[in-house]
Amino acid sequence: MTIITGKTKLLGIIGDPVEHSLSPVMQNAAIEHLGVDYIYIPFPVKPENLVIALNGFATIGVMGFNATIPHKQAIIPLLSDITTTAKLVGAVNTVWRTETGWKGTNTDVIGFVTPLKALNRDWNTIKPIILGNGGAARAVVVGLAELGCSEIAVVGRNKDKLDQFKQSWDNSELIASITVHSWDELSEMVSESQLIVNTTPIGMFPHTDNSPVDSDLWKKFPKNAIAYDLIYNPSPTQFLKDAQQQGLNIIDGLDMLVYQGAAALEIWLQQPVPAEVMSQALKQYLFS
Ligand code: NAP
Repeated sequence: MTIITGKTKLLGIIGDPVEHSLSPVMQNAAIEHLGVDYIYIPFPVKPENLVIALNGFATIGVMGFNATIPHKQAIIPLLSDITTTAKLVGAVNTVWRTETGWKGTNTDVIGFVTPLKALNRDWNTIKPIILGNGGAARAVVVGLAELGCSEIAVVGRNKDKLDQFKQSWDNSELIASITVHSWDELSEMVSESQLIVNTTPIGMFPHTDNSPVDSDLWKKFPKNAIAYDLIYNPSPTQFLKDAQQQGLNIIDGLDMLVYQGAAALEIWLQQPVPAEVMSQALKQYLFS
């Protein structure tokens, strides 16, 4: 059990609601494992109190924090600086103290790409398909572009939102072509794609039998293709079970969740952190 002393440094997460957040579980497991004098706390912050909360954090010496819904975009104008990655995604999930004020980045991108990098593919030749065009899809686009994917296809259900999504990258520094498609087009696209990423909530607990991809479609994917689901509960999802049954490589959302948290903790502590300890803590909390 971590002993909180008069010198213990504060980290945490702001959100509204924040009660559902899994970050305190995995961050405090890593903090305890490392034996550093920090504690990670959930801070419920209403949108109208964001400025007051940030001023309060500066006053009481909070070292850094995560931001979740609804603060990921709203916090940007309140920070003194954000990274290029956060600018591209258009959202900040990790904030730390600097001499000139708060700085922000988006560690969802590194969280997303870390398990892919371990697979060591020729990313330039891979034509990924992203299912969904919401907030998480933006981090996925930036991650895939950073890996070197040059053609990214995005599938969505709302044409206006899809067009806005595509346009939002037009004047960005992103060096990748983005095409947008309706769900009807998916079956014609999969034979060319070595990576499909689900960023929709379809299949999330408690609707665990649902999948965004018809089970017959998996036969059409190239044999060495990768299926990646951002959902972390259940683990694996029906989407991943079906993909695995057809021999595809699978990656689940727990990995992304852990690696985005590990990247944030590394920024705050300025030292390597134990991702495996964080993963085990999450699995035990969620599934045992
Ligand atoms: P979001 O901004 O609400 O976006 C969800 C997207 O899915 C939207 O494009 C939405 O379409 C689409 N969608 C929702 N229901 C659909 C349905 N029944 N059929 C077709 N499309 C549907 O949510 P988000 O923040 O991107 O999060 C998406 C998922 O990623 C969630 O399951 C979340 O838990 C997960 N996630 C995981 C991690 C991680 O670390 N593993 C991180 C972030 C997010 P419309 O725009 O047309 O509504």
